[in-house]
Amino acid sequence: MSLAKKTAALEQIKNEIMALEKSPLYKYRQKHGYLPVLGEGSHDADIFFIGEAPGESEAKTGQPFCGRSGKLLDEFLEHVNLARADVYITNVLKDRPPKNRDPKPDEITLYTPFLRRQIAIIQPKVIATLGRFSMEFIASEYGIELDGTITQVRGNVFEIEEDDRKITFIPLFHPAVALYDGSKRDVLKKDFEILKKYAN
Ligand code: URA
Repeated sequence: MSLAKKTAALEQIKNEIMALEKSPLYKYRQKHGYLPVLGEGSHDADIFFIGEAPGESEAKTGQPFCGRSGKLLDEFLEHVNLARADVYITNVLKDRPPKNRDPKPDEITLYTPFLRRQIAIIQPKVIATLGRFSMEFIASEYGIELDGTITQVRGNVFEIEEDDRKITFIPLFHPAVALYDGSKRDVLKKDFEILKKYAN
């Protein structure tokens, strides 16, 4: 698919989410004047990051990872010389859950078809999940059995074959864990180093 077609297809998804009145998060979005957050970055990206859901800063601006977690994500990207403009960053949910609570199963069911379409459009070589919710979605989506919790499997590399396409799946901690536990910052930095191999 040409870059122009990819951009048009992503724009179409954005419009659908804008009008997603059936979402349990739609009223909350409208009440606070929030924006949905589709994703940001290169539509030809090799590396595709998936976080959990927009927080308040993200819902106010429409940009993923632009608040405190985003600053940490920027730090980890810089650590491996990756520019935000060269990767794609999105979330499992495209609307902010009240008070940043965990995504609910029905919300994941409602929003992940959009995520699936984003992956099909961008066709990344690497999917790097940030946190448990995106890790669990990608593992179940591609039939990968994870042998342990995120603490045990983060930094592992899984090769997925889908039709004639290969995707590398790398589960990572959510950057926010480093806000509460400084030792995780070093773990995240080290795990991000795995991505260097896939950056062109
Ligand atoms: N946390 C996430 O999971 N995603 C964002 O976009 C911001 C914070």
